[in-house]
This record gives sequence, structure tokens and C-alpha cells, in this order.
Amino acid sequence: VQSRLPQVGTTIFTVMSALAQQHDAVNLGQGFPDFQGDPALLDAVNRAMREGHNQYPPMAGVPALREAIAGKIAAIHGHHYDPGSDITVTAGATQAILTAVLALVQPGDEVVVLEPCYDSYEPSITLAGARTVRVPLDPQSLHVDFDRLAAALTPRTRLLIINTPHNPSGMVWTEDERAQLRDLLRPTDILVLSDEVYEHMVFEGRPHASVSGDPELAARSIVVSSFGKTFHVTGWKVGYVAAPAPLMAEFRKVHQFNVFTVNTPMQHGLAAYLADPAPYRDLPAFYQRKRDLFRQGLATTRFQLLPCEGTYFQCVDYSAISDLGDAAFCQWLIEHAGVAAIPLSAFYAEPPKRPLIRFCFAKQDETLTRALARLQAL
Ligand code: PMP
Ligand code: GLN
Repeated sequence: VQSRLPQVGTTIFTVMSALAQQHDAVNLGQGFPDFQGDPALLDAVNRAMREGHNQYPPMAGVPALREAIAGKIAAIHGHHYDPGSDITVTAGATQAILTAVLALVQPGDEVVVLEPCYDSYEPSITLAGARTVRVPLDPQSLHVDFDRLAAALTPRTRLLIINTPHNPSGMVWTEDERAQLRDLLRPTDILVLSDEVYEHMVFEGRPHASVSGDPELAARSIVVSSFGKTFHVTGWKVGYVAAPAPLMAEFRKVHQFNVFTVNTPMQHGLAAYLADPAPYRDLPAFYQRKRDLFRQGLATTRFQLLPCEGTYFQCVDYSAISDLGDAAFCQWLIEHAGVAAIPLSAFYAEPPKRPLIRFCFAKQDETLTRALARLQAL
């Protein structure tokens, strides 16, 4: 068959998790927790099933969940999305991103991404028949280089995809950077897809600079998030998008033929659970403690730590340990140290010059301690 995605193989996350299992390695590769979600959330879903919420929900999602999402965004960012017309529940962020790109981008358009970037963006753009334009983040800080971004925008640019907090670097946009983006886009009609799946994992008490917190940006943006990340249930594959009604109307045209709608009992369970803000309000402190534990341990290894302002990922430079390429080094690390990580080249078109890998610290303390003991022996 003629491939629509000739450059694409199996994702690095699948490959590394399979290798980790094969070698019985501690899996700090693919980003998912090795602990359970809150029993109160699991109970709420069970209750929803037993109460009979098991048939198709409305196409855009269970109304109570859309109301809870709109309420959460209004409380945190002060922006009022209409739960009827502006919020849609999706099968995780991956489906939301593909659906948004297919809905908003025409063949021949250019879509700008900031590199390194999550691996699903470019295939989504390719499937829409558009061209991916990669703009490197500043190689030192991994923050946005606005001069390079400005230089990459053309009359054909239809969409810009941003991601904060950022996978893989853990970089978090400041409110000043958000204002710079707003000013840069003001004279254009470029739309923004803002991937905010780690929205509730920002450390040191800093705010999350969501595009929904800036009315001008919100008017041209589609915001994506994922309950899998926020509530430690990545396998549930439930997320959402928020956007002004005209954009959302286009999103829903594609969504209804993509999945039509998303599983009902999880939506009811999440709607009930979202009534209490404590679980997501307490998440930064929960992960900041794990970050600090993990970083303290890594400080006694030969890995060199990069900053981590948010997410549950920690990047390290391994040049003091090996001169292998990053994919080969990750394979070696699984086989010789029994720890799985993700090579940063998975987030680039061309492998980066600096030898970097990413660890996920969304793990029980014992798991982190076990991995650290192995890494300290290198
Ligand atoms: N965007 C980013 C930046 C991610 O890291 C991930 C998954 N870890 C996704 C999107 C996809 O999220 P989901 O599992 O909800 O599809
Ligand atoms: N987003 C997760 C990560 O970056 C992985 C999700 C996936 O396996 N597709 O690790």
C-alpha cells in the first residue's frame, strides 16, 4: 500500500515500553504513573456505570462534565467558555490534536511547531495535507525564540501549535511570553492550538499561562487538555478542547465522524469528581516533591540535570557517561542499567546536537529510588 505517513514507524513510547518490559527494566520512559488514581474518582465511575450511564452521551460530551470544565477554566483563568458551544470532550489529547488539525487546516497550508515537540503533531499535519514548519526553541533555555518564530510566519501560516508546560523539556511559558505571542499574532489571522495537557503541573507556585487567560489569544485558540495526566489515569483516554464557538463548530464536524463521542461512565465520574478542586489544586506540590526527590538523587550521578519548571519529565545530558547517540544510549541503558528513558531525538526532525534523554518521574517513591540506585552505579 502507498503510505500516508511514509516517515512514521511505531512511536518511541511504545518501542521503549516494550523493551523495558522485555528486560525487566524500571520504566521511566513513556509518561504514565505507576500508581492508581484517587479511589473517589474510581468509585464515581463505578457508580455512574451502575446508575445506568452506559449508552451514547451527547456528541460533544456529557453536559455536566462540560459545565465542570468551563467552571474550572473560569475559576482559574477568568475566561468564560459556553459549555454548550465552546467545550467538547475528546478521547484524550491525541485525538483532540488530530481532530483539530484536520478541522482547521487546508492542504497546502503551513503549520508552525516549536521544536522539540510532541511526536503526534507532525503526522497530524501531514494527514491534513499541510506542511510542518519547525522553529527551534532557544537551545539553552528551551524557551521560545520570538525572533525566529516571527521570521517563520508567512501568509500561508494557518496554525501555530504551542505546548506549555512543555514535553519533553519541562519549560513553562511566562505570562510575558504569552503577551509577546499575542502581540506577534495580532496583525495575522493565524490560529493557535495550545497543548496544555500538563496544565496542573507547574512548580514553585508559578501560574500556568494558559492562552485562555488572554482574551485576545483565546479568541483565536483551541485549548487541549487531558484528564489522563491530571488524575493519574492515562489509560482512560479522556480529555477536552475549549475554543470559541465558530472554531468549535468546525472541530465538532470532524469529531463526530472521528469518534462521534467519548465513553459515558468516565465522563459522569469525572464530572462528579471535578466538583472538588483539591485534586488538581494539590497536584503541583505532589509532583514538585517527586521532582525534588528525583533531582537530588540524579545530582549524585554523572548525568547533568536540565531545569524542570513543570510536567513530570526531567531531561538530562549523558555526555559524561557515553558518546553513543541518544536512541542507542537508551537501548544500552535498558540493557546495562535496567532503566528505560526516552531519547530526545524523538521530538526532533534531526537529532539534536546535545546528547539528551528524558526520564518520567510520575512514579512511586520506591520506583524512583530503585531507578536512582541503578543510575548512581553508572
Ligand atoms: N500532548 C502532550 C504534550 C503529551 O505529552 C501527551 C501524552 N503524554 C499528549 C498530548 C496526549 O495525551 P493523551 O494521552 O490524553 O492522548
Ligand atoms: N505523552 C506520553 C509521553 O510523552 C506518551 C503517550 C504515548 O505513549 N503516546 O511519554
